[in-house]
Amino acid sequence: MRNTKYHRGILLALIAACIAGLAFVAIAFGPKTRHSSMCRFCGRWHYEVWRLGIKTSDKIIESDWSAWVDSIQPAHTQHVWALASSSRRKWGGTARMGDYEGNVVVELYASRKQIGEAKARELLAKYHASSEVGWAKARDFWVNELSPLLTNNNQETKAP
Ligand SMILES: [Zn+2]
Repeated sequence: MRNTKYHRGILLALIAACIAGLAFVAIAFGPKTRHSSMCRFCGRWHYEVWRLGIKTSDKIIESDWSAWVDSIQPAHTQHVWALASSSRRKWGGTARMGDYEGNVVVELYASRKQIGEAKARELLAKYHASSEVGWAKARDFWVNELSPLLTNNNQETKAP
């Protein structure tokens, strides 16, 4: 009788070890999806990870430019996530996808030295106002308002 109980105990321990091993393999090497997004309004990063269809990570990361926007627009809390990159790992391999559209806030923050703090804030206010009629229009704003300023500055610098 003792032997049977002993063997049953070993068998159960082995089964438990197998299940734990399979779970480890599935989590470490199984399907995994990562998304990184950026808020169109403030430029915060948003990282999400799913393993086996379950969300295992969800982080919002502040940046220099999001701190800059926060100092101007402290009431902003409704983030507008635009997907920046995405990767999907299946059992066979990883597929990367991504269509990083660029972020006006990042560009404005970076251009402050060139166009000046006051102009950058003025353009940020215009950009935020244009977002009310849709983010595609806000994107046009970047092409029409900020790009020409930077191009002109470059030409002035290059001129003899
Ligand atoms: Zn935001």
